[in-house]
Amino acid sequence: MAALISIVIPVYNEEGNLPHLYNELKGVLSKSKDPYEIIFVDDGSTDKSEAMIRQTAKSDSNVKGIIFRRNYGQTSAIAAGIDYSKGSYIMTMDADLQNDPQDIISLMQKIRDGYDLVSGWRRKRKEPFIKRRLPSLIANYIISASTGLKLHDYGCTLKAYRKDFLKNINLYGEMHRFMPLYVYWQGGKIAEVEVHHRERKWGNSKYGMNRMLKVIFDLITVKFLLGNYSTSPLYFFGGWGILLMVLGTLCGMFTLFQKFMWGFWVHRNPLLLLAVFLFILGTQIIFIGLLAELNIRIYYETTKKSVYTVKEEINC
Ligand code: UDP
Ligand code: MG
Repeated sequence: MAALISIVIPVYNEEGNLPHLYNELKGVLSKSKDPYEIIFVDDGSTDKSEAMIRQTAKSDSNVKGIIFRRNYGQTSAIAAGIDYSKGSYIMTMDADLQNDPQDIISLMQKIRDGYDLVSGWRRKRKEPFIKRRLPSLIANYIISASTGLKLHDYGCTLKAYRKDFLKNINLYGEMHRFMPLYVYWQGGKIAEVEVHHRERKWGNSKYGMNRMLKVIFDLITVKFLLGNYSTSPLYFFGGWGILLMVLGTLCGMFTLFQKFMWGFWVHRNPLLLLAVFLFILGTQIIFIGLLAELNIRIYYETTKKSVYTVKEEINC
C-alpha cells in the first residue's frame, strides 16, 4: 500500500538554492509511486525565500509552506514541519542542496524494509577537515559511546523516520540531531545508509564553531531526560552521592586513625578537609536527586505524559 511521505525542509535565507532544490525534488518524487508532500518551513528568512515558498505552494498542491514570524533555529523549523505533516513517514533534509534529493529513494527503500529510522551518512563530506569533519567525528564518537546508539553521522539532516516514533517528542535548543535517540530509546529499528554530500554552492553556512559546545550541553540534557534516568533521577544522583559520602567517611576514618594511632595533629590535615568536603557534597547531591525526582513527577503528572510508549493495542 502506498503511504504518504512528508519531506520536511527548514529554510533560512536560501533563495539561491530553493528553485534548484524544488526542481530536483520534483524530478525524483515524480518517479516514485508514493504520494508525497513537501513542507518548506521558512525560519524567518530575510531574503526572497519566503516569497518563493509562497509561490511554489500556490502552484503545486503537494507543497506546503509554513512561515515563521522570526528566526527560531533549524530545530524549531523541523519541529514545526513534523507538527504539520500528514505522512506516515517523515523525511528531513537541508534546503541548501548539500543533501542530494536522489538519496530519498534509497532511504525510502530501507524504511519499507521495516526500519523505523534510516539515518543518512555523509561518508564523503565536502567540507573542511579541521573546522567541520573533525569536530563532527569527535561529536559522533562521544554521542555514540555515551548513548549506546552507534551512528556515523548524527549531524546529517537527511534522515527518514516512521511517524509513530516522532509523536509526542519535544525538541528544544538544537536537539534535532538527537532525534535518532528518541527512536532508539523507544526500541525502534535503525539503519544507516550512505548518502551523497555536496558543496554549498549558494549562500553561507548558518553555523560556526560554537555549535560544539551546544551539542555537548544538549547531549547531557537528552541523555538525562530521555535516557535510563528519565523516570528515576535519584538512581543517578543517589549513586554518586553515596560514593562521595563513602569516600568522605573513609578519609575521616583515616584521619582518626592518624590521630589516635600515630598521634598526628589533624587540625591542619588536608585529609580532614577532604573528608568534610566529600561528605557534604555527597549529601547535597542526594538531595538534588530528591528534588529531581519531585520535578520528574510534576513533569509527567501535570503534562499527562506517559512514561511508556505502546506499539500496538490488541482487543482493547
Ligand atoms: N537553517 C534554519 N534555521 C537556522 C539555521 C539554518 O532553518 O537558524 C536551515 C538552513 O537553511 C539549512 C539547514 O538549516 O537548510 C542547515 O543549515 P546549514 O546548511 O547552515 O548548516 P550546515 O550544513 O553548515 O551544518
Ligand atoms: Mg549545509
